[in-house]
Amino acid sequence: MTLTLPDGREVRPGKVLCIGRNYAAHVAEMGDVSEAEPVVFLKPSTALVPSGGEVVLPSQSDDVHHELELVAVIGTEAKNVSEADALEVVAGYALGLDLTARDLQAQAKAKKGPWSIAKGFDTFAPLGPITAASEVGDPQALEIALEVDGDERQRGTTDHMVFSVARVVSFLSSVFTLEPGDVVYTGTPEGVGRIEDGDTLRATGTGLEDLTVTVRRASR
Ligand code: MN
Repeated sequence: MTLTLPDGREVRPGKVLCIGRNYAAHVAEMGDVSEAEPVVFLKPSTALVPSGGEVVLPSQSDDVHHELELVAVIGTEAKNVSEADALEVVAGYALGLDLTARDLQAQAKAKKGPWSIAKGFDTFAPLGPITAASEVGDPQALEIALEVDGDERQRGTTDHMVFSVARVVSFLSSVFTLEPGDVVYTGTPEGVGRIEDGDTLRATGTGLEDLTVTVRRASR
């Protein structure tokens, strides 16, 4: 999938960076504990699917969950950027879904192994159109919501993040060189739940373009 940045550049995302456990109420619903530093994992870029696209439920899982997230899109190469300067390297924001095979994730957690398979299937990272950061304004003052077939499943406000977008971007840049087109899924508020064959998922957010995808099960 190619992304169009707000300034018109077309880029292929190199990294899909994700933050876990970034809203206290979601940490609680998962029975997890909050961490002193952001919980980081990555998805392959082949997990991305644009709005209007189709999510494919893999045969390996019987319990795929939606996680509604604000996504920051990097516009400027950055390494070791300070928290104070971090938002300057964000070109824009979009709505995203961090789809998760919860059964496979539980197995991985039990084995103290990585979540790559549970989080990384093709189409497990729907990403909406990008709105320029200058139009969005304060990324900690946004309300985001998700409907499944018209029923609201998740609603959150980004001021409830444990680690702000600036903190997350700064932290990630202390490890990885951030490059234009890299995308950062910033964690989900509470209300995660199962998606099914035939569902239509629609995410909305303050000042952001809608993200809509349909769901089908892979043929076995
Ligand atoms: Mn997530």
